[in-house]
Amino acid sequence: MLIIGSHVSFGADQILGSVKEALSYGANTFMFYTGAPTNTIRKDIDCKLTEEALALCKEKKIDINNVICHAPYIVNLGNKKDIEKYEFSINFIRNELKRCDEMQITKMVLHPGNAVGITSEEGLDNIAAALNQILNGTTKCKILLETMAGKGSECGKTIDELAYIINKIEKQEQIGVCLDTCHLSDGGYDMSLFDNYLNEFAKKIDLNKIGCIHINDSKNVLGSHKDRHENIGFGTIGFDNLLNIIYHEKLKMVPKILETPYVGDSDEDKNRLYPPYKFEIEMILNKKFNPNLREEIRLYYKK
Ligand code: FE
Ligand code: FE
Ligand code: ZN
Repeated sequence: MLIIGSHVSFGADQILGSVKEALSYGANTFMFYTGAPTNTIRKDIDCKLTEEALALCKEKKIDINNVICHAPYIVNLGNKKDIEKYEFSINFIRNELKRCDEMQITKMVLHPGNAVGITSEEGLDNIAAALNQILNGTTKCKILLETMAGKGSECGKTIDELAYIINKIEKQEQIGVCLDTCHLSDGGYDMSLFDNYLNEFAKKIDLNKIGCIHINDSKNVLGSHKDRHENIGFGTIGFDNLLNIIYHEKLKMVPKILETPYVGDSDEDKNRLYPPYKFEIEMILNKKFNPNLREEIRLYYKK
């Protein structure tokens, strides 16, 4: 069975709220940030809410091993010029893993980092060194390095860069990769030739390292290095290419997570935004592109 869900929020009810939101989309997995992705303020994990959430997952047949946490993107392991910031990032990610363990979450996605003002090789070395400090045997949750679009000085935009980091990691059982289809396309990998990508990945890393796939269309052309997600089938990757990845025989057991943009009241009016996930999941399960998706989403939520 297809393992599919979307990014959901983590609010006052913490992971219990996330599970309920995922269920409202007809999903059988989900991804959440354990707080605002743009800051490092974190509330303690509430064990009562967590227990309730885990029971609900069990009842609704959501396997917690398929649920993904996403680390905030403001921490940067790529640069240690500001050693205090670098060490803060290391401690912060270590603490995020501890929070994941408390919720029985087994996989956390991380943007590798940025090599600001240094060579990309120095950036990759900094990231690997930080990861070896983070994975110090005190936590169980895995880190999945996300494939990046190559915006600015982003590290992790090619298979070679990811392989370079992964080869330096001591705790191999705790390191993996999260593919992001929008980032791959923006990074220059043609998603209509996805098997070529997988073959290179298998040769240089290992397909078993793929722990999650972010399924997004892209607003920009191949190799644009922009990183702007589009709704499934409405972008430059296209529905058939995405469907081919979603249902790929070699990636059956890998959770697929949608991070597509919310839909506005009209294409011009973005004052009220509606989540597209229930409709995108339906469309993916039907295996048929729905050109009226956005109108149907508006009708459904606008009451
Ligand atoms: Fe991400
Ligand atoms: Fe992503
Ligand atoms: Zn992105």
